Amino acid sequence: MKLAVLKERRDGETRVAASPDTVKKFKGLGLEVAVEAGAGAAARVSDADFQTAGASIAPDAASALAGADIVLSVRSPDASEIAQMKKGAVLAALLAPYTDKDTPAALAAQGVDGFAMEFLPRISRAQAMDVLSSQANLAGYKAVIDAAATFGRAMPMMMTAAGTIAPARVLVMGVGVAGLQAIATARRLGAIVSATDVRPATKEQVESLGATFVAVMDDEFKNAQTAAGYAKPMSPEYQAKQAALIAETIKKQDIVITTALIPGRKAPVLVTEDMIKTMKPGSVIVDLAAEQGGNTPLTKANEVYEIHGVTIMGYTNLPGRLAVDASSLYARNLFNFVSLIVDKKTGALALNWEDEIVKGAGLTRDGAVVHPSLKG
Ligand code: NAD
Repeated sequence: MKLAVLKERRDGETRVAASPDTVKKFKGLGLEVAVEAGAGAAARVSDADFQTAGASIAPDAASALAGADIVLSVRSPDASEIAQMKKGAVLAALLAPYTDKDTPAALAAQGVDGFAMEFLPRISRAQAMDVLSSQANLAGYKAVIDAAATFGRAMPMMMTAAGTIAPARVLVMGVGVAGLQAIATARRLGAIVSATDVRPATKEQVESLGATFVAVMDDEFKNAQTAAGYAKPMSPEYQAKQAALIAETIKKQDIVITTALIPGRKAPVLVTEDMIKTMKPGSVIVDLAAEQGGNTPLTKANEVYEIHGVTIMGYTNLPGRLAVDASSLYARNLFNFVSLIVDKKTGALALNWEDEIVKGAGLTRDGAVVHPSLKG
């Protein structure tokens, strides 16, 4: 059975869906691996590295895809690539299922079973495949590093003969995987960190990392977590109370990292323009929700600019700014997913649609769009 690894074609996508390590592991499963030439270049993996690991190098997408039973990529392949996929093939990638409606339709028309890695259930058995976690963890780290590099002051307190430098104050808004790593990174750099979220479970996590928890802890807060572990959209009344608290807190901050997301919806606006105007000159906001509309109304996707004396960073692909590590973790996540759908004895595809991981991530099956969240 053949597995193909595509080169990414989208602007700014530096990651690659396989690593020499996973190529070796796929070979161990009995698969033949074809990597499109140059696929790893931006993540510092050469064609020769892939070859040494046992892959063949395909000169273009068409030859990589010819006869491939499993196709791996980071972002969704474009229409012409999908049109070259074999009927009955499996595609595993970040398919942006809430925003990209064309790809599932094209995959169904081609008879390809498409799996959106974003939809993997957040259960323990799927942890080793959890791309949202592996990538968000790196994004949270990089957000703090980017902010520190732009901030015109030091992060830790420094007592020197020439005087004392006060530590930076960092506020992290949204304490999921990215937020937790942002807190830990900012703490390691010596900042005074506080954090906010609407899920009660985060209070203890924030405090265990040595940061202060700031939130409106009313009855709505106590019920803000869904069974799947995500946040619910909050009522206008809650949002008003939250805004008043954040307005007071944000004035004293030097760096604000926002990561608040609600699956399938526009990101909540947590930092208004009026709040930004109260921030100290030279402050920095890194908005990890930029791709989903941003946690501030002033965020511009993929732009870094200054307004009201505050630098706002709207990178939409922070993991891609750490392409080497992001690729190797993403590749390992995909390997773990593929090992679930390949029969170890025969080396053939063995999709068990009763498995909640397969069912949870599967967008298309046998020529139809099947995921409940994409139907009607
Ligand atoms: P996410 O990216 O969906 O959202 C980021 C954070 O924003 C969340 O903590 C959310 O509560 C918060 N948020 C949403 N609206 C907000 C608002 N108005 N104000 C402040 N904060 C707001 O989250 P994620 O990183 O994907 O994590 C989601 C959950 O999944 C967490 O409970 C996490 O612990 C859990 N998880 C479980 C596993 C597992 O395998 N069991 C793995 C990874 C993550």
